[in-house]
Amino acid sequence: MSDRKPLIVGNWKMNANHLEAIQMIQKLSYRLEPSDYDAVDVVVAPPFTSLRSVQVVIEQDRIPIALGAQDVYWVDEGAYTGEISAPMLAKLNVAHVIVGHSERRQHFGESDEMVKLKAKAALGHDLFPIVCVGETLEQREAGDAESVVRGQLRAGLTGLALGEGSLSVAYEPVWAIGTGRNAMPDDAGLMGGLVREELRSIFDSETAERVRVLYGGSVNPVNIKDFMAKKDIDGALVGGASLDPDKFAAIVRYRL
Ligand code: PEP
Repeated sequence: MSDRKPLIVGNWKMNANHLEAIQMIQKLSYRLEPSDYDAVDVVVAPPFTSLRSVQVVIEQDRIPIALGAQDVYWVDEGAYTGEISAPMLAKLNVAHVIVGHSERRQHFGESDEMVKLKAKAALGHDLFPIVCVGETLEQREAGDAESVVRGQLRAGLTGLALGEGSLSVAYEPVWAIGTGRNAMPDDAGLMGGLVREELRSIFDSETAERVRVLYGGSVNPVNIKDFMAKKDIDGALVGGASLDPDKFAAIVRYRL
């Protein structure tokens, strides 16, 4: 048994205006018990425009759910229209930042180099990056899944100074995201092991043991248990199902 505490993150993507977000966080909190927070670190990542509203609710109502952001820019301030910086997120008590999600890689041309700059900026402001990696269907069918994921990790993480900062890696096969077609838990478990092995070579054994490796891709209240049973999977990055407080709470409570 590892002593890594499970981490379950809801990525709300471009859903929920600030009023809807308030309702979602309140509903989620009604469905979770103190024992759930003892067992699992729970994070929600609303769109930027809803962060402040969710922050106010979780702080006023003392809800032990941490705030996540879906992206970050690597410069602290300046003439970068439309971007949001790490110190701005830190000021909202954002704890985690998703970096390199496949939708950003696919639709916004995010490269491994940009992923590294973003992860570095996050760490520099005591935000925990959740770095996403994963192969496309074509790459898996060509037998390249492992080399693609190793390459993304090496290019995105080599040279980062983790210090006291904590990093998570989300293994998200692109073909499983938002498709309802999840990876087989055995395959995800193997890829989790591969991620940890690569982290060992990029950093060191101690760091590799500490980093939480998440699985993402059509996680639901039924399949979560099978993913969490894998020794190298320490949590989940959940998209679609995190928009429904009943479903997301059931995912968080997978152990019951
Ligand atoms: C995600 O957004 O990272 C994700 C895994 O989405 P979904 O759960 O909808 O597949």
